[in-house]
Amino acid sequence: MATKKNNLCSFCGNESDQLFSGLDGSLICYDCIEQGHKLLMEQEAQMARDEEKQWRSSVQDMPHPSQIKAFLDQYIIGQDEAKRYLSVAVYNHYKRLLQVTRNDDVEIEKSNIILVGPTGTGKTLMARTIAKMLKVPFAMVDATVLTEAGYVGEDVESLLVRLLQETNYNVQQAERGIVFIDEIDKIARKSDNPSITRDVSGEGVQQGLLKLLEGAVVNVPPQGGRKHPEQEFVKINTQNILFICGGAFDGIERKIAQRLNTQVVGFEASQKSQKVDKNDLLRYIAPQDLKSFGLIPEIIGRLPILTYLQPLGKEALRKILTEPKNAITKQYQKLLEMDGVTLRFEDAALDYIVDKAVEYKLGARGLRGLTETIMIDLMYEIPEKKLTQYTVTREYAEQKLQKDELFRLQQAV
Ligand code: ADP
Repeated sequence: MATKKNNLCSFCGNESDQLFSGLDGSLICYDCIEQGHKLLMEQEAQMARDEEKQWRSSVQDMPHPSQIKAFLDQYIIGQDEAKRYLSVAVYNHYKRLLQVTRNDDVEIEKSNIILVGPTGTGKTLMARTIAKMLKVPFAMVDATVLTEAGYVGEDVESLLVRLLQETNYNVQQAERGIVFIDEIDKIARKSDNPSITRDVSGEGVQQGLLKLLEGAVVNVPPQGGRKHPEQEFVKINTQNILFICGGAFDGIERKIAQRLNTQVVGFEASQKSQKVDKNDLLRYIAPQDLKSFGLIPEIIGRLPILTYLQPLGKEALRKILTEPKNAITKQYQKLLEMDGVTLRFEDAALDYIVDKAVEYKLGARGLRGLTETIMIDLMYEIPEKKLTQYTVTREYAEQKLQKDELFRLQQAV
């Protein structure tokens, strides 16, 4: 851009020492540039205010915890305790957001949540489901990719990139979002003695995460990662971002048992210990167990709501097959309905699928795969068969799974 001296500004008509010229020869002075900039900034601020107002009125009728839980109930079997905790936390998150700008003297503190439960019990499902009903942006991220700044992997700040993307880079919206951090247990301290080697994917990450959890203004690379050093950072304040963490914490039952055992001293305690259900130790989980597992106390302190998900027994697995709003069997029924076929599953066939999921130790995650294997031939053939109804029997299911097992064995040889 060329500058011309001693001339008139084409916008305000004033004479100016320095003018910028456009391609068509028009000129603009510093004052006009500044005015224009101010105008744009004001416009932007007004848009943000309007957006905030609109959002506030949209959440005036925010669902109560019991309504949030009722919504979760449609999709998730069991896990009542975790559902209740999550519902209250999300409800309070809304309240907190509505309060923030009111300058009240009582400040509601953020209540980040940690969900502990074996893999395949519904932690991710719960987070995904709640996201469906939220009027705040939601992002799900995996803690396993994180490493301490300066090492191969992602910086903790990258957690916020997903949230930014969700909002189409609207910082204001991102700042009231919810981030679900999956597999938080994978960043536990690797050894009890942190000084032996550098623990770049463990304690280092936890330290980084800490500032995000407690609320800080963070520089986020909008593209994520460190591969674009030229990119400008976006500043995000995490003060109002709710973090929900989930992890399997494999083996934490041992830590819980140890703690319960050491607590069991004296008569009163031994009476208490009789009530401990050894098959369901997770229900006794306490913050100190997370510490024994390798989370640093500061992180635990920033995740004040600790709840657990139970392992799913046969009964729960059986319900998962048929009851949730988008249960697997319902999905197949819908698919075949489009071919004009009414599909039924014999109870014994469903029991068989559950038995196999338990036998192969696949849990809920395996139900879909097993059902898929059973259904594949039927899905392939049925459009040609001109049937109006079909019932999947136990014999049929057995035959299809056995065929598949044989096939897999042959492949393995
Ligand atoms: P996690 O995150 O605890 O490892 P997921 O939520 O990913 O487990 O669960 C895997 C799949 O298993 C889900 O997509 C869902 O189909 C099924 N599932 C697991 N738990 C439940 C549950 N409590 N209710 C309904 N379906 C479930």
